[in-house]
Amino acid sequence: MRWAFTTKHFLVNETSPIMDKEKVCLIINPISGTESKKNIPELVATAFDQKKFDLVIRITGYPGHATEIARQAVKEHYRYVLTAGGDGTVNEVARTLINSDTTLGIIPFGSGNGLARELDIPMDAEKALEIILNGKSRTIDYGIANDHIFFCTCGFGFDAFVSDRFADEKKRGPLGYLRNVLESVVDFRAEEYEITYDEGTITEKAFILTCANASQYGNDAFIAPGASMDDGMMNVAILKPLNALEIPQTTLQLFTKNIDKNSKMITLVTQKLTIRRSRAGLMHVDGEPVQSGREIKVEIIQQGLKVLVPSEKKKEKEAENIFSSLTRWFNE
Ligand SMILES: [Mg+2]
Repeated sequence: MRWAFTTKHFLVNETSPIMDKEKVCLIINPISGTESKKNIPELVATAFDQKKFDLVIRITGYPGHATEIARQAVKEHYRYVLTAGGDGTVNEVARTLINSDTTLGIIPFGSGNGLARELDIPMDAEKALEIILNGKSRTIDYGIANDHIFFCTCGFGFDAFVSDRFADEKKRGPLGYLRNVLESVVDFRAEEYEITYDEGTITEKAFILTCANASQYGNDAFIAPGASMDDGMMNVAILKPLNALEIPQTTLQLFTKNIDKNSKMITLVTQKLTIRRSRAGLMHVDGEPVQSGREIKVEIIQQGLKVLVPSEKKKEKEAENIFSSLTRWFNE
């Protein structure tokens, strides 16, 4: 038996000296984000050794198309599905790859790039591709809020309100977006929530109620600085209503990973929770607004998505954005 197997194996190797190539699918959403992706197909095609990989490049044509392509790739046992698109494309593909053997690779072109930023994937396309080629695979948790899958956050308060109000804004410059957000503070009314989690039930009126699998919403806005994507738990950030004087400091804390030190912040760590509110309303999943009923069940599923990340964790560096200078200004 052993001999027969060896012989067969030998013959297969003789007749087909090339090993099975690994299948790679690159999904490009040509219209997402602000940067052109014209050079991406060539960049990726050159980077992958054709002797070792079978690369297929697909361009999306409509919402949901990335899901269809990714689903087919999983069915055909593709080793990697790479995305070059916005946050919507990354989410569509990531949701399709959960609990499969196919690994996600991200070339970020989004407005928030929450998942890529949380995983230390560079924002530059060539550097992100370098991570895809030479990084490692990491298996991360994901969340389910009612029937909606999320990877970074889902939220029910002010963040949901903002996600809905600016859902149609395609190009969000950080300053314009910040101005819109600050203007919305005036219109927003905080709700009361009953929250049942692993250790009991609390009732709180909250400006922000966010269930975080990642530490940030995207754009380096860290709503749950202590959250980890592979601990099997979610960090629930409950920020009580703020007065006008507290808004600048809280905003600053959000972008400097210090919001957990805010006196109006309660953080719960739990595997699942149920949120009840007085009426049906908005929530967001990874920044996409959706309507929800009065009761929402949120749960973290451990180790559900394989994704390519840098081999070494990058050194903690100060967020390089407009808030760095603001921080210095406040401190001086
Ligand atoms: Mg976690």
